[in-house]
Amino acid sequence: MKIGVLALQGDFDAHRKRLQELGAEVVLVKKPEQMDEIDGLIIPGGESGTFIRLLGDAGFEKLKQFVRAKPTFGTCAGAILLASEVENPVQQGLGALDIGIRRNAYGRQIDSSIRPGRFHSADAEPDDKGSALEMVFIRAPKIERVGPGVEVIATDGDDPVAVRKGNVMAATFHPELSDDTRVHQAFLDLVRGQRTKGRQ
Ligand code: GLN
Repeated sequence: MKIGVLALQGDFDAHRKRLQELGAEVVLVKKPEQMDEIDGLIIPGGESGTFIRLLGDAGFEKLKQFVRAKPTFGTCAGAILLASEVENPVQQGLGALDIGIRRNAYGRQIDSSIRPGRFHSADAEPDDKGSALEMVFIRAPKIERVGPGVEVIATDGDDPVAVRKGNVMAATFHPELSDDTRVHQAFLDLVRGQRTKGRQ
């Protein structure tokens, strides 16, 4: 299973290490055409406006097609890129996940923090309380609207901080910076599911 990590900017190397730890083959994606050789993609944290600038029009279009076809996981700036609605300021997005997201929503005072949150397994009941998960937030955005059919897979208090719909997953925190491997494992399970379906 080949997983790409968009490696234009930001925090891609921690994702590479985590994925390799979990047994995945990793491709650092620096050129749009590398998306043709991967089964899934992680869009890491960084600065979402800079990602858009570095991708350019052709790269952005290629990424847009990729996220519609294959499993993609965006963390922090990556989550902002995947969202259908971005505020503070308004910014173009890939529109791959029906969520409304607000950039830098926690203000400068608490722009980074480590907080205990809850992780909900894929087959959880709606009232499931989940299990404890350490979450690292860095100039994090906030998910302010969750569209129909979008499943909340992690929470920080009452706030959704990781969501999934179909093949697209997003987290406003940085699971690659904690020791817990469950969030990346959930993404690899998603990619595996997709591959199995593809072979049938
Ligand atoms: N604040 C960044 C943005 O708006 C995201 C921060 C991060 O990825 N750690 O794009």
